[in-house]
Amino acid sequence: MNKYDVIIIGSGLGGLLCGYILSKEGFGVCILEKNNQPGGNLQTFSRNGHKFETGVHYIGALGPNQALSRYWRYFGLMNGLQFQQLDTEGFDRIAFGDEEFPMAQGYENFTSRLLQYFPGESQALDEYIRTIHEVVSAFPLYNLELPKDHREHHYTTRSAHEFLENLSRTEKPKSKIENRKSKVSLSSVLAGNNYLYGGSRLSPLHVASLISHSFISGAFRIIGGSDLVSRSLVNSITAMGGTVITKQNIIAIDRHRENFRVKSAGGEVFTSTKIISDIHPATTLSIMPAEMVRPAYRKRIASLQNTCSSFILYLSLKQGCFPYLNYNYYFHATSNPWDEPACPDARWPGMFLLSTGCHEPDQKFAETVTILTYMRYEEVARWTDTSVGRRGEAYLDFKKEKAEKLLKSAAQKFPGLPAAIEHMEISTPLTYSDYTGIPEGSLYGILKNYHEPLMTTVMPKTKIPDFYFTGQNTNLHGVLGVTIGSVVTCGEMIGLEYLLNKIKNG
Ligand SMILES: Cc1cc2nc3c(=O)[nH]c(=O)nc-3n(C[C@H](O)[C@H](O)[C@H](O)COP(=O)(O)OP(=O)(O)OC[C@H]3O[C@@H](n4cnc5c(N)ncnc54)[C@H](O)[C@@H]3O)c2cc1C
Repeated sequence: MNKYDVIIIGSGLGGLLCGYILSKEGFGVCILEKNNQPGGNLQTFSRNGHKFETGVHYIGALGPNQALSRYWRYFGLMNGLQFQQLDTEGFDRIAFGDEEFPMAQGYENFTSRLLQYFPGESQALDEYIRTIHEVVSAFPLYNLELPKDHREHHYTTRSAHEFLENLSRTEKPKSKIENRKSKVSLSSVLAGNNYLYGGSRLSPLHVASLISHSFISGAFRIIGGSDLVSRSLVNSITAMGGTVITKQNIIAIDRHRENFRVKSAGGEVFTSTKIISDIHPATTLSIMPAEMVRPAYRKRIASLQNTCSSFILYLSLKQGCFPYLNYNYYFHATSNPWDEPACPDARWPGMFLLSTGCHEPDQKFAETVTILTYMRYEEVARWTDTSVGRRGEAYLDFKKEKAEKLLKSAAQKFPGLPAAIEHMEISTPLTYSDYTGIPEGSLYGILKNYHEPLMTTVMPKTKIPDFYFTGQNTNLHGVLGVTIGSVVTCGEMIGLEYLLNKIKNG
């Protein structure tokens, strides 16, 4: 009873994909999840009969023969699920004040659409795209190829912010708005969706490039919600003999002779010969005894900075009152998207991302709208020791005040939105830290820092024998990053070349 070859802690996308690979390879796998619902950031929730995404609003590289669709074919995800391609003429609309710029799909389209706004920037756009392609070719796993050299080092040590800032050649791009000079540069527009990687000036060039590449190549929404991905994976894993157990909050991991022992808050003990942790590495190491982890490693991992957290509104809408937007809308109050995670209180929210939920193909009206912005954990730190539903009046007032500010900002761009709202839910950094266990409710886990790429990268294979990490803190965050990360983690156990061949050959 309770004895497995591999225990995976956490059923986020990374944990489930590792569970799938290893079950398919004949390992006895058990995935232990603290929540009622598996999936981590793939979880959805319903209010008033409307389903909301919590951590996946769109996914990239899902077009035919693109990286994610090739990986997901192996995981059996391309048959059962339906996807809605976002507007090819602008999957993201980037707004600065009253100016809007489209990010189109396909590199030619991407360039020609932006040249309409920045006719003097053809050289800069060429350089942008050439660099993205160079970066992608330095990360062969993004083309399902085996990494052979260490060319990636060149890009992990460069700053995304500096690269984008130095791209623009002309100072005063042409404005689409008559008789006005645009204050917005091409550099700001290209950084306009940097919420996708946490908007930090410390982000390395490869993080921004790999993520932008995936969306420019092919941007899609999952029709019906991303919980369908976790459901499909759980069904496949159990059909292959694996086990997924929810409501198992793991509070201790130790070793007894050849076996790991994993203990849940409810007192259950599970044993295995190998462990993969899909939860934050600092949290993982904090539940292991001193003798299992070298102090220097524990100290380094505990000291790593996380990406900023978020404040999010989930709006259920009255029927037929607000259009379904087949794109994401990024609004910026100033022309500098890099200052927004640390936006001072008086100017908050400096930005928002507005996204409509996708419930059926070619939807006409939105049933749900999600509005996301940054929020630092310090804002809610005073309620850290309270629990969900019992945080007190002051917390409710805080949420209400912030929600009103964010909604007011969104209503300036979407005046019909407030009247269309039927019901509103709110999440803060505390909500995310409770539901996913990510410290400080951070959006994407550990912040990769181009000054210290090795220090801020968590390797999937650790010095603790048979102990591995997976998930967004290893390779890269986001659905594509985590998918590739799970292949790297399992590749460490069963051989990366062997696994890639299996994936490529179906
Ligand atoms: C607001 C938001 C929006 C996002 N939007 C997008 C997007 O549009 N596109 C995109 O590609 N990516 C997006 N992402 C990022 C993406 O969702 C994540 O990078 C990815 O899902 C992380 O997967 P993971 O496997 O690392 O683990 P997680 O999703 O973090 O899952 C970890 C799991 O471990 C469980 N757990 C934690 N502690 C314990 C414990 N002690 N015992 C047992 N279980 C435990 C948690 O409950 C959770 O289920 C978004 C993220 C956020 C927060």
